[in-house]
Amino acid sequence: MSAPPVYPALRKALCPASARGLDDGQREVLGQALADAIACRTPDFFCAGCEDHPAGLCDDHAADLDLTDAYLALGRELGIEVAR
Ligand SMILES: [Zn+2]
Repeated sequence: MSAPPVYPALRKALCPASARGLDDGQREVLGQALADAIACRTPDFFCAGCEDHPAGLCDDHAADLDLTDAYLALGRELGIEVAR
């Protein structure tokens, strides 16, 4: 069974956290800000704590990845493309 179609007008009416009211330039800046935040939270390498952790990810790096997921989710909710 496929997901029901999402009608943009209905979605806009039901979603209080939409990016309506932002112009294209503001949306682009917000998308870039989210991309920068994600880049800052994405490690170049994983630490010794990650290597020692049974899950292969220390608490700090797991928290960073949770935040990047939240940034991406926010971008999707606002209909903003986040360059990666
Ligand atoms: Zn780590």
